[in-house]
Amino acid sequence: MKKTELTEFRDLLEDMQSRLRGDVRQLTKEALGTDRQDGGGESKSPTHMAELGSDTFEQDFSLSLAANEQETLTEISAALQRIKDGSFGLCEICTKEGKSPAQSAIPKPRLRAIPYARTCVDCARKREGF
Ligand SMILES: [Zn+2]
Repeated sequence: MKKTELTEFRDLLEDMQSRLRGDVRQLTKEALGTDRQDGGGESKSPTHMAELGSDTFEQDFSLSLAANEQETLTEISAALQRIKDGSFGLCEICTKEGKSPAQSAIPKPRLRAIPYARTCVDCARKREGF
């Protein structure tokens, strides 16, 4: 992969990283009730705060969302590490199967959609399939 492309993906990953870090903090705070301010600017009905019945659900939801984002953050760090060590953009599974770097390359459109992807589409399908 070209150096300019690597820089592009590194920027993309770092953007996602800082956005997610803020999100995880915010979601955890919201879930634990230490921060009640509504973000997003979406208008909410005045009765919203009175819907106590939905609180537990919202708390679970926010916490599982935070956990997912935490997982994504781990993947992003791993991807940034791969940029440093030069294995970024190569499918882990194809590489293990002994394919050449050219054959193991994860297609650019997939990397643009999921810059922390570890595998090509085929391997991702196979992995999910069993
Ligand atoms: Zn693969």
